[in-house]
Amino acid sequence: MADRTVSTIAPAKINLYLHVVGERSDGYHFLDSLVAFAGIQDLVSAAPAKNLCLAIDGPFSAGLPEANDNLVLRAARELTETWDVGKGAAIRLTKRLPVAAGMGGGSADAAAALKILSQLWNLNPANDALMDLALRLGADVPVCLNGQAAFVGGIGEEITAAPPLPPAWLVLVNPGVALSTAEVFSRCNGDFSRQARFTDAVATAEELAAVLQTSGNDLTEAATALEPVIGDVLAALKASQGVLLARMTGSGSTCFGLFADPAAAKQAATALTQNHSKWWVKAASLVSDTTRPSS
Ligand code: ATP
Repeated sequence: MADRTVSTIAPAKINLYLHVVGERSDGYHFLDSLVAFAGIQDLVSAAPAKNLCLAIDGPFSAGLPEANDNLVLRAARELTETWDVGKGAAIRLTKRLPVAAGMGGGSADAAAALKILSQLWNLNPANDALMDLALRLGADVPVCLNGQAAFVGGIGEEITAAPPLPPAWLVLVNPGVALSTAEVFSRCNGDFSRQARFTDAVATAEELAAVLQTSGNDLTEAATALEPVIGDVLAALKASQGVLLARMTGSGSTCFGLFADPAAAKQAATALTQNHSKWWVKAASLVSDTTRPSS
């Protein structure tokens, strides 16, 4: 076995819109969401080892569950059991994304682990089988594994490529409160929304904002009832110079502002940081394809 380390990025997932379109008898909600990614990420690497082990570092490592419950190790164990691997790996996770924040950091990490461990162990799993395994780990893992902007339906398993999205910038703001996805969904008993999909390519950030104005994030009310500071975050983003749209991602508490101009996004991020020293604020590009490093 060659002594090599494989590594990859685990980019933040952004729900450009998120509609709850129905509910299953077991309480799972059916979604319609346009998922893209942000140019900010965790890092995951793996090297050959006798057993499976996980080391975690990075600014948000403290907020994570014990290594054994970490989605990265759960992904690794599922992979070894499903493909009868019989090998270990020394995995390292650098946690740069806030935890339980609506950016799918855990899902992105799990998807990254599936990719690099398949490579390390030369598994070549069939795409469908890997997607099934991904869904067992979490509703957002399949779209993170897919790595490209997509409309997501069902409980996360139906992935339909989105039309081309324009270059755009995001300002991401997390007010430092963690939200449980399950708790937010459990408070979401209102009327269901319709799908908000579109088919035409969107050429500019302004056009994207206009298209997204016809949709929303149906979890915002429930999340804000649990953490009212989300209302302050959205108000601060909406008041930023150059912002085209401000919205919560996933089940919160992170919200994003959409910008056409990178300089305006960076300026808005600087101003938000100055005015709210306890908030986590980052300017990042909107990424449609995480499999292309330069996008
Ligand atoms: P989503 O939007 O996919 O519902 P989220 O972005 O709100 O998720 P995550 O950061 O993915 O939240 O974390 C969800 C939960 O998963 C956390 O409460 C955490 O305890 C657990 N978890 C397990 N492994 C990880 C990991 N590697 N990174 C983040 N959270 C993890």
